[in-house]
Amino acid sequence: MAKQDYYEVLGISKSASQAEIKKAYRKMAIKYHPDKNPDDKNAEEKFKLCAEAYEVLSDDNKKARYDQYGHAAFDGPQGGGGFGGGGMNMDDIFSQFGDIFGGGFGGFGGGGGRRQARVKGSNLRIRVKLTLEEIANGVEKKVKVRRKVQAEGVTYKTCTTCNGSGQQMRVTNTILGRMQTATTCGTCQGAGEMIGSKPNGSDAQGLVVKEETVSINIPEGVTEGVQLKVGGKGNEAPGKNSISGDLLVLIEEIQHDTLKREGSNIHYDLYVNFSEAVLGTSKEVETVTGKVKIKIEAGTQSGKILRLKGKGLPSIERYGNGDFLIHINVWTPQELTKEQRKFFEQMQEDENFSPNPQKSDKSFFEKVKDMFS
Ligand SMILES: [Zn+2]
Repeated sequence: MAKQDYYEVLGISKSASQAEIKKAYRKMAIKYHPDKNPDDKNAEEKFKLCAEAYEVLSDDNKKARYDQYGHAAFDGPQGGGGFGGGGMNMDDIFSQFGDIFGGGFGGFGGGGGRRQARVKGSNLRIRVKLTLEEIANGVEKKVKVRRKVQAEGVTYKTCTTCNGSGQQMRVTNTILGRMQTATTCGTCQGAGEMIGSKPNGSDAQGLVVKEETVSINIPEGVTEGVQLKVGGKGNEAPGKNSISGDLLVLIEEIQHDTLKREGSNIHYDLYVNFSEAVLGTSKEVETVTGKVKIKIEAGTQSGKILRLKGKGLPSIERYGNGDFLIHINVWTPQELTKEQRKFFEQMQEDENFSPNPQKSDKSFFEKVKDMFS
């Protein structure tokens, strides 16, 4: 069977640069990798052929000979290709991958990045209680956390089991031949490092618990149940190349005595006395951002809602502030003096005291409907 042209195999032109050859091979190797094509004999053949093509074309000497003589350059005992007619075996191919993928093993090390797993410390969780005022304005909270940190004087050294690669090679015999697979090093769990010396008082990983004050910037508008993350303020992990876990902050709202939150709106029940409702008055109302003076018109009905636009809470999505809604409640006197009783008795039949709601005096339900529209 005539062998396919190596350039065709990799899908490149004869003028391809070394970088292009490498890139093309990397693509093919991923496409036909046995892990991705289990039990696919055809893919395995392609995989081997691509490896063979790369082996030749990536070597300037071999490439020159191949360009001149074609496949004949490597035929026969003096071929010098090192792999004769049988192509490359899997071990050869995988050992080539160090060059291709930047790692020393047969896996896909993320395309040439660090092949050791970066060990990350565990996350810490705390709860922070906030008042409505703090939520409205944003706040910086200082909290004490007990986090694991690397003890002073602890040293870490290269893992002796995997020589720092974080991987152990395992060779298994399969029907496709010998397959080399990489598994995470059991000694260092992939970190590539192990403990050198550790001071007294530290745990098996050379860590100690330390109390630390962490400052948390809480943005305005957070809600109960929101979780904020302070990166790197969780537990440290052992090793020089490790990274710290995160501090996860669960937000809790402290119930306000007089204000009720509904999304980014705030509701407030304002009680006015009967005379104030009749005669009109002005009141000072404490919002989350300070005091506001409001006017109660003469003849204000109980149930009226005054809306202070934008005086509610900032929305965390930055859609602008919610509103502060003042619900007017007219306090009906429950005890009366003789004179007062007499006055109201006289007013019972008075036309001015007889309910006469206008269209503008919306019912409670209409008001609610308006509020959410
Ligand atoms: Zn190891």
